Amino acid sequence: MTRRDYRLLFIILAIIILLSQVTLAAQVHRVEPGESLFSIARDYGVEVEEIISTSNLRNTREVFPRQVLIIPPESVYYVRKGDTLSQIAEDLNIELDRLIAENNLSNSDYIWPGQVLQIPWREKEDVLVNSFKIYEVQPGDSLHSISHQFGIAVKTLAGINDISDMDKLEAGQLLNIPEYSFSELRQLYPEHFFHHKNTDSPKIALTFDDGPDDIYTSRVLDVLKEHQVPATFFYMGSKVERYPEVVKRTVEEGHVIANHSWSHPQLINLTDLEVYDEIKKTEIAMEEISGLRSGLIRPPYGLISQKLLEQLKSLDYRVIQWSVDSVDWRDRDVDQILINTIPDTEEGSIILFHTSSGGQSLQATVDVLPELIYTLKTQDYEFVTVDELLDIPAYLN
Ligand code: ZN
Repeated sequence: MTRRDYRLLFIILAIIILLSQVTLAAQVHRVEPGESLFSIARDYGVEVEEIISTSNLRNTREVFPRQVLIIPPESVYYVRKGDTLSQIAEDLNIELDRLIAENNLSNSDYIWPGQVLQIPWREKEDVLVNSFKIYEVQPGDSLHSISHQFGIAVKTLAGINDISDMDKLEAGQLLNIPEYSFSELRQLYPEHFFHHKNTDSPKIALTFDDGPDDIYTSRVLDVLKEHQVPATFFYMGSKVERYPEVVKRTVEEGHVIANHSWSHPQLINLTDLEVYDEIKKTEIAMEEISGLRSGLIRPPYGLISQKLLEQLKSLDYRVIQWSVDSVDWRDRDVDQILINTIPDTEEGSIILFHTSSGGQSLQATVDVLPELIYTLKTQDYEFVTVDELLDIPAYLN
């Protein structure tokens, strides 16, 4: 190569390094007066259609000042020196497996600087979007034999049960085996299992788990009151007993209260009697304070099995899961919560939030609500309680 070739090569490398500095993740854009979808798309160097798609816009003709748009990330990533696939996956908030699959990589560790990786648009968190059955490990079983028996990938099985591939299983050990997807359960139990509504009507429901508490539940109620938005609160019985005034306020301000167990255990691992206790104690505590007998339940962590669902059905409960997960308890960041919710929200969505989280701050949940509510209202969504969304009774008395 001549000196000139080297110079050219240097310039190309410099450009690659510059390009690799561009946005790696989706961004939040808050519309300013005078902006249009076209001008915003041009400023970010993306297509109008991409913004419409990632922001899941119903109203595509105009944008409103303060409306939140989700700008898709660059769809390619230029590998930099020192990068590893797992680091890239973590930085871009996507599953390593998905990154490997998308790029047809056979050796998951071998990447080189300047290599172009195709980056899939964000991963939907769907590990829990399943029911589980319990399997008792038999002598001679291995993760592989069980994986084969139930037709579930070893990795999935290991992930769900928090065991490493190498771990020896012990006879008698209990494993959670994925059973039905939420959609399958919905078909099997159309009157008793819900995670969204299939509809063209622009109704959506905000739901808040794990309260009441003495900090965030009241702040969330303040925001909902200011914006005149009704919601559904899945309360824990043990906290209902501690914060009766918050429960009373919730009902008085037009929200629905529902059952989220007494102490937040994994109900699928309890005996029928223990499950009964968790549910009934909560039901009684809520009824004593509000006079209302709850008919809606969300099992802790959304963990459900067909067996548990049958029991809840026999107790006259309807199970309410969700279709949009804010992951607010983990991310605790306004922009990230907007990115987690807006792209997935559509007609009939049930959106999951929390008002209590093991002592951690949920201030971001409080802070994101005005923007999220305003933005979804610009798309002509109407906020309703889940019973209204699904046309089922909220209470049994
Ligand atoms: Zn919960």
